[in-house]
Amino acid sequence: MGSMRIGFGYDSHRFDEARPLVLGGVRIPDHPGLLGHSDGDAIAHAVTDALLGAAALGDIGRHFPPSEPQWKDADSMELLARAVQLIRESDLRVCNLDVTIITEQPKIAPRACEMVARLSEVLGTAPEGISVKGKTNEGMGWIGAGEGLAVHAVVLLEPSGDDEDRWSDGDGISSTAL
Ligand SMILES: [Zn+2]
Repeated sequence: MGSMRIGFGYDSHRFDEARPLVLGGVRIPDHPGLLGHSDGDAIAHAVTDALLGAAALGDIGRHFPPSEPQWKDADSMELLARAVQLIRESDLRVCNLDVTIITEQPKIAPRACEMVARLSEVLGTAPEGISVKGKTNEGMGWIGAGEGLAVHAVVLLEPSGDDEDRWSDGDGISSTAL
């Protein structure tokens, strides 16, 4: 893949009092967690889907099916790391990422820097290329009623540039021709 690729990911989860809240790999105390087969980390899931979408590699459910017991209560940042590995195998890397969390509570801004740091670590992208921001839904609908939260993620991938040794098992096009 020799050109820039854009991807979009969306995820939503219902709040569950019985679970710890983890968003972008950051544990947020004193707030209900997110119901899900894994840890319910909706940021990790939306970013994973954005990465897979940008590379046209399907979606999170195809690579990490909820029917498989190995993903029960899984650390979703680990799933994200696997998606990063998949895009690396397609000679792509993350240029920049923009994430919006829509929720009434908790406030995202105080923890956004930590989320950026965790995402930076897993994506191998400088923090300057990663944006995490929160919005409320102005009290409207299921988000406004505090039933759960939603996350939108947009990612831009660029050619990794260190791919000389990978072209030989690719589509037969010489790297010098590109
Ligand atoms: Zn999810």
